[in-house]
Amino acid sequence: MQKSNNTLIDSFGRKIDYIRISVTKNCNFRCKYCMPNTPEIIEEDLIPLPKMLEFLKISMDFGVKKIRITGGEPLLRKDLPTFIKGIYNYKNDVEVSLTTNAFLLKKYAKELKDAGLKRINVSLDSLDSKKIIIISKKDALQNVLDSIKEAKSVGLGIKLNMVPLKNINDNEIISLLEFALQNGFLIRYIEYMNNIFASSQIQGLRGEEILKIISQKYNFKMLQKENFGPAKLYEINSIKEGLLSNATNNLDVKKFTFGIIAPHNDDFCTSCNRIRLTSDGIICPCLYFEDAVDISQAIRNGDREEMINGLLDSIKNKPEKNKWQENIQSSRAFYHTGG
Ligand code: SAM
Ligand code: SF4
Repeated sequence: MQKSNNTLIDSFGRKIDYIRISVTKNCNFRCKYCMPNTPEIIEEDLIPLPKMLEFLKISMDFGVKKIRITGGEPLLRKDLPTFIKGIYNYKNDVEVSLTTNAFLLKKYAKELKDAGLKRINVSLDSLDSKKIIIISKKDALQNVLDSIKEAKSVGLGIKLNMVPLKNINDNEIISLLEFALQNGFLIRYIEYMNNIFASSQIQGLRGEEILKIISQKYNFKMLQKENFGPAKLYEINSIKEGLLSNATNNLDVKKFTFGIIAPHNDDFCTSCNRIRLTSDGIICPCLYFEDAVDISQAIRNGDREEMINGLLDSIKNKPEKNKWQENIQSSRAFYHTGG
């Protein structure tokens, strides 16, 4: 690991300028792929957000330019807008974003926008309320759609995340793409990642399978990899002959881009630029790698030197590749690392 001009470069020459921070393990959903069987409330000794902010300030001093707030469900932390304002007050050119299931977003959208937030990622796996219940164990669709509308109306940019699951929502890959298209949103499909907390009955679709489904209706080409992100981007050229529908009749589909996040692919880690901080103060240099650096005491005590040591250690320990293998289940919970 080198540190030059306050830049974090790992042992494989990758510049680390992105932190994902999970602000709680708790969630008001119980998604099949994430935490279907956890108790309603997970006991946690939350680190106060003003203390987390001090760590983020150090990270920004070391060149972090992008911060994503995630969870669990981040909107369960009521002081989130103040936290976001604090980040922007320290550095106004940092890119802050939020990943949420949107259940509580309607109430907070304006406050978040006023705090400086520009964009959000909303996890939306279906447009069918019954399926949302099957996937998340919550009758949430109407709330989520109202929240999305509100977020759009206050001027937040919206990117949808969908995890396609075999025989559950894989028949909605195109309808969610068209929902995004109609509303001027972006969309990313995420390959389901095996983990011991997920339901054992589910099977996700691989990137190639998702592309095959989209290709039944649309002609598209691959673009470059996403700046700042692990997604591969695709650009739609046209709808296949004879497949114009009400949903797409008046839409300009040309140049609409969608993304696929495929961590099972070999080239996924080459441009990885991120580390993760959990709500209990652990830095995870990689989602699929068990090593981690515990800086909880340093954060709680406001110990700047120890926070810096922890940050530098985590960059030093960042592996070249994730340890994901077919048939191996991760013991890292997504609701802990933030996904
Ligand atoms: N609760 C928020 C939400 O769902 O948007 C934020 C936290 S959630 C852990 C962050 C992202 O991780 C979501 O987009 C979710 O779909 C994704 N995710 C969770 N478990 C996953 C899994 N097993 N495989 C792939 N993506 C997963
Ligand atoms: Fe909650 Fe997000 Fe996990 Fe679903 S994916 S259970 S919304 S943390």
